Amino acid sequence: MIIEDERGLRENITTYFTGDGNICESCNTLQSAMDKLVMYEYDCILLDIGLQDGEGFAILDYLKSKKKSESVIIISARNSLDDRIKGLDLGADDYITKPFHLAELKARVMAVLRRKMGSSNGMLTFNEISIDLQGRAVTVNDQHIILTRKEYEMLLYFIANKGKVISKTALAEHLWGDEMDMHNHFDFIYTHIKNLRRKLLDANGRDYLTSIYGIGYKFKAE
Ligand code: CA
Repeated sequence: MIIEDERGLRENITTYFTGDGNICESCNTLQSAMDKLVMYEYDCILLDIGLQDGEGFAILDYLKSKKKSESVIIISARNSLDDRIKGLDLGADDYITKPFHLAELKARVMAVLRRKMGSSNGMLTFNEISIDLQGRAVTVNDQHIILTRKEYEMLLYFIANKGKVISKTALAEHLWGDEMDMHNHFDFIYTHIKNLRRKLLDANGRDYLTSIYGIGYKFKAE
């Protein structure tokens, strides 16, 4: 989620990260960002501080009060030490000063997401499954398996939320954002889940996925 009121920058960041296979949404005010944060969950928020209707710090206050788990990187033109300290104190994960190169922003985002996934070296390992987060490559029992982009996103999301019941709606939002009507996606989800499960099993992986009738899915935690 990109919260930035400078239109050119907002569009550049969105185009750059979308081109990299990420699902991006953007807002240009505090209020529109709050409206989305109440309803949806994001992996990472890029947060401008100087917004027309207030300071981005309010977003950090909100996330903290609701114990939400979004990672936040502040993108700000202000380079004052006070702002940095305030942002980090309020729970931001990182701080980058404008102007910056998009490649640097991407590196910071990747680092924050790796930390969130509990990986320091860019590899995420869960039992027999290993994921190279940078190369987006997956092995099961040391055997490389080929996943589509959606299957890959799904696998990461399941591992990050293992042991929890994931509703079909939450999964659809994660995979497609809030742009389209969710109900059109439920059939696709079923197909993606079926294919992902088959690919894991074909590589002699364990059967982690269970379907919870009428609700969604669960990825076994052990
Ligand atoms: Ca601004």
